[in-house]
Amino acid sequence: IRTLNRTNVDQPAITQDKVKVEVVANIGSVKDAMKVAENGGEGVGLLRSEFLFLNRTTAPSEEDQFKTYRAAAEALGKDQPLIVRTLDVGGDKPLSYLPLPEEENPFLGERGVRISLDKPAMFRQQLRALLRAAEYGNIHIMFPMIADIRELRLAKQVLAEEQEKLGARKVPVGIMIEVPSAAVMADVFAPEVDFFSVGTNDLTQYALAMDRGHPKLAVLADALHPSVLRLIKMTVDAAERHGKWVGVCGGIAGDLLAVPLLVGLGIKELSTSVPSIPDVKACIRALNSQKCKEQAEQSLQFSTAAEVRDYLETTNQYVV
Ligand code: PEP
Ligand code: MG
Repeated sequence: IRTLNRTNVDQPAITQDKVKVEVVANIGSVKDAMKVAENGGEGVGLLRSEFLFLNRTTAPSEEDQFKTYRAAAEALGKDQPLIVRTLDVGGDKPLSYLPLPEEENPFLGERGVRISLDKPAMFRQQLRALLRAAEYGNIHIMFPMIADIRELRLAKQVLAEEQEKLGARKVPVGIMIEVPSAAVMADVFAPEVDFFSVGTNDLTQYALAMDRGHPKLAVLADALHPSVLRLIKMTVDAAERHGKWVGVCGGIAGDLLAVPLLVGLGIKELSTSVPSIPDVKACIRALNSQKCKEQAEQSLQFSTAAEVRDYLETTNQYVV
């Protein structure tokens, strides 16, 4: 049993038996981007681009967006990856200047990439801004709420057209795995992406059919539920067969009880809030990856999230 050492934030996160895991940040502003390096972050695994679009009366222009993405890229430097997720509104995040029809079930309605595909002018502006900003850093583009391969193909088609028009260079393209269909069909998606990032917040909500913001249900909607773990496992297995990497950018990436399990499942990148990066790195350094694998295999066999949590607590490899 090791005690976590949080002091050496600049050291990479490598397990005792030399398995490297990228520890990167979830950010929602350029200000956050400037704090990544000092907290030991090795890049950004999720820039929620919504921050540029929310709380305003008109959409941000291509130029506004370009400047912001460039500033974030420059804050990270040429090498550190900056994964920018395209606009993920709808559901719980309405936009005043983008009137969407009233929906009975907004979380099952037009949200994420569905809106982008439905409003191609706005989508193209965002993609152009990103492709231009990619000259200044290591930008990756990620599409949210992908449920069906046709959505990915359409989004990639639009991206390719804008790239062509701009004469811009190609950037790595990935998708969020946050809809169960995408996890189940990960073998179909894997050949057509560069990476996957598991959004456990939505994946849990959709796997268990429990609203992530519901006052009573949210506590039961535990990302360590074996159903969610099995979906992650399917995703990793499919990705590995195609030589692609899988990260996690949902809340459990920063849950120190979950980190060993995610490492054991073969997750290569954990993206978490800036302040929790030192803890996550310290945790990984205390781990033995073989033990993590055993923990993952065992966890997949349990029936409830509570059993998984109890087991992880009793087999913990470190003390906080
Ligand atoms: C997720 O769903 O896990 C995720 C990271 O995206 P968001 O929380 O922004 O929906
Ligand atoms: Mg999500």
